[in-house]
Parts: sequence; C-alpha cells; structure tokens
Amino acid sequence: MPSLLIKHAVILVTMDDHRREIPDGGLFIRDGFIEQVAPTCELPSEADEILDISGHILLPGLINTHHHFYQTLTRAVPAAQDANLFNWLKTLYPIWGRMKPEDIRVSTHTALAELALSGCTTASDHLYIYPNGARLDDEIDAAREVGLRLHASRGSMSLGESKGGLPPDAVVEDEAFILKDSQRLIEQYHDPGPGAMVQVVLAPCSPFSVTPELMRQSAALAREYGVHLHTHLAETQDEEAFCVQKFGYRPVAYMDLLNWVGEDVWFAHSVYVNPEEISLYAQTGCGVAHCPSSNMRLASGIMPLVEMLQAGVKVGLGVDGSASNDGSQMLGEARQALLASRVRAGMLGASLSGEGTPPMLTARQALEVATRGSAAVLGRRELGSLAPGKCADFFAINLQRLEYAGGLHDPVAAMVFCAPVKADYTVVGGKFVVKAGELVTLDLPRQVEAHNRAARRLVAEA
Ligand SMILES: [Zn+2]
Repeated sequence: MPSLLIKHAVILVTMDDHRREIPDGGLFIRDGFIEQVAPTCELPSEADEILDISGHILLPGLINTHHHFYQTLTRAVPAAQDANLFNWLKTLYPIWGRMKPEDIRVSTHTALAELALSGCTTASDHLYIYPNGARLDDEIDAAREVGLRLHASRGSMSLGESKGGLPPDAVVEDEAFILKDSQRLIEQYHDPGPGAMVQVVLAPCSPFSVTPELMRQSAALAREYGVHLHTHLAETQDEEAFCVQKFGYRPVAYMDLLNWVGEDVWFAHSVYVNPEEISLYAQTGCGVAHCPSSNMRLASGIMPLVEMLQAGVKVGLGVDGSASNDGSQMLGEARQALLASRVRAGMLGASLSGEGTPPMLTARQALEVATRGSAAVLGRRELGSLAPGKCADFFAINLQRLEYAGGLHDPVAAMVFCAPVKADYTVVGGKFVVKAGELVTLDLPRQVEAHNRAARRLVAEA
C-alpha cells in the first residue's frame, strides 16, 4: 500500500501514553500503520498521497463496543417507543423474527455508514437472532463493503418462553447448532493478528435468553480458540430479579459461577453493579460497554462510570442497538456519557448532603473512553491511540462550523460539549471511508431508500 501524509491538523489528539495534543500536527503512514506522529514540520515532506487538513482537528478513530446493527430497521417503532426493556423486547421480537438475509445486509450497511460519518473506525456488533436463513456471514460480507473494522459477535438465544425465558420459542435456536456454527465462524473469519479487519466473538444474548449450560460451553469454546466473550449484564432491575429468582445469584455472581470473568470478557451495560462487583471487574479484567443513550431511552438507569474508572475497570463506549438509541452517532454518545455521569454525580451529591459532589467526568475522559477505553475492552492494543506502530485509524473534523462557533477556546472539549457533528474524514488502516464529508464506499441516497423499503416491509407485516 502507498504511503500517506496527513499534515497541518490544528490539533492532533494522540491519546498516547502521555496524552499528547500536538498543535499543527500530522501523521506519516505506510502500509496501513503509523510510522510517525509529530508536528508537521518534523514529518517527511513527500508521500504517495498527501492531505492538508488545515482548519481540522484530528483524533484516533472512535471505537463502538456494543451495537445491534439490525435494529436500525426498527427505530422509533410506535409500539416500542415508551416501554422498558422487557416490554420493548417482547414487542420487537416478532418483528425481528421476520428478517431475511438481505435485511441483515442492508441494516449492516446503514449502521456502519452512520458510524463512519460520526468518526467511528471499529465497531463491535452483537447479532443474536437468525430467522429465515440469516447468518453472521451476511453481516461480515456487508461490513467489508463499507470498510470499518468489525468485531462480529455470534450471539445466540436458546431459552424460549416455554422454558421460562423471555423470547418466544420461534426465535430461539438449538444449542448444539449454536456451538457448531460458532466454531465454523471462528475458523472461517477470525483474524487474531495486528490490524485485523474481522474478529469473531461468542455472545450468548443475556441471562434471560440462554441456559447456564450454553454460557459454560460458549466460554470453553471461546477459550479453546482465544476469542472474546460478550453478553448483556446487569442492565435493569428486572434482570437482577430474574437472576436472583431463577438462578439464586445476582447477575455478576452468576457470571463468576459460569466462568464468565476475565480479560477476554466484556459486558454491555452493567448499570446495577455494587462496589464489590466493580472490584471484581477490576481484579479480573472484565470490560464494560457503556451505552448511556440506551440506558436512558429504556429508563434502565445510569451506570456508575466514574466509580468504574476510579476502580480501574476497562470501560468502552457503545451506542447499543438502534431500536433503543435510536442512532449510531459516536460523538453524540460520548456527550451522553459525560452528561449522564454528571446527572449521577449531582444525584449522589444531593444524597450525601453537604459532602460535596463526586468528581465530574471531563470531556477528555469521555473521548478517552471512546478510544483507548474501547480498544482495551476489545483487546486491541494496536487501536485507540495514534503512535508509531498503531493502526492508521483516525478521523478529522473541520472546526470552522456553526456548531463550534464560540467554542474554540478548547476545540477538544468543544467536540463533546457542543452538538454532535459529522466527521469530514474517517480513515481505517490508511484508507478513506469518509472524504470531504462524503461516505466514499456506499451510494448513500440509494442505501437510505433500500433501508426504508426493508423497514416498511418488516413493520407492515406486523
Ligand atoms: Zn444491546
């Protein structure tokens, strides 16, 4: 691959080990990896391709640690607008059960397009429903066409209503098949090497939709192959009550019992965790995907983000599925993380009466969660910061815009405090996915039309 020189960023935010922010910064890139990060005057003056981004701020690509791409087909569905998690799921399961392989493809394109335009360069997706012949392969193939790195989770549901689970029997799968298909997908697609475009993750959906046996066997299989494990955990009080009643344990203790803790495990949400459970995450290396918009949308609660960071838990950012957000805007999500944590700080401060407000999450901390934090959660040392040897994954935003007018006293903070905007450049492994504000890998108007057609069909058949 040719060399690429990026020069004259107003500020280059490295998120490196020293958190350097370089005025008039640039990058020299070869073969998809960064060779140099420095003030422009210290970089080589020649390269196969040169881009002058004067007037722009440049950051490491944002990394999304939890999503359900297929849910972009069921945003703002009227019957699921004002429901809590369990009722929301029961309303949507039958609609999702009508999806076909082409719906997985079209929704993957839409979600990744939206993510790329918000500065995202790596996305994890949790696909746990496979109706009408749909396969994880459909998503992996579609993702290649957009050009973002993908952590494709082979999700699963096996505990139907007739066995005491939440999903209808029609959308759950046979456990022997789930494990066989998981093994096939790892062998076919998982790339453990640096700069991998696709990694496979095993991800039984949640305590209320799979059996303990499937959790155990998925963990054993994942460890045999060295792939990561992911599930929803401690998202709501309903889930906590379900675990205590059905299994006799709180959600985190239940995971511990099933051998589902360690550096190779990350949980979505973890809103309802106590200080001992936070310590367990920190000691064992469990990661968390923080999805503030979804937690607010479904009235689930506010995750103890600052407490987790203080305890040394690896926390990344996630937009969650688009039926509970209802968007894939990573800068917007970083803003939500900052605001939600401050609501929590205020509420805790009030309840402590006179002892002051707990520390506030800063804009830079919110960006750090979305970059370095997310990379650590996914186990990707070569992502999340800009330094020699790291992947050339970054995005840039033109600062001369209405949304940032009057906010350029601190452009880095403005990206979080001001209204979320679209990226002008998004680059993955040295290749442009967004250039001069346009997605270069898809025809967006045609994509939106095809997506709306698929969404109308799914909901009209209800
Ligand atoms: Zn989710």
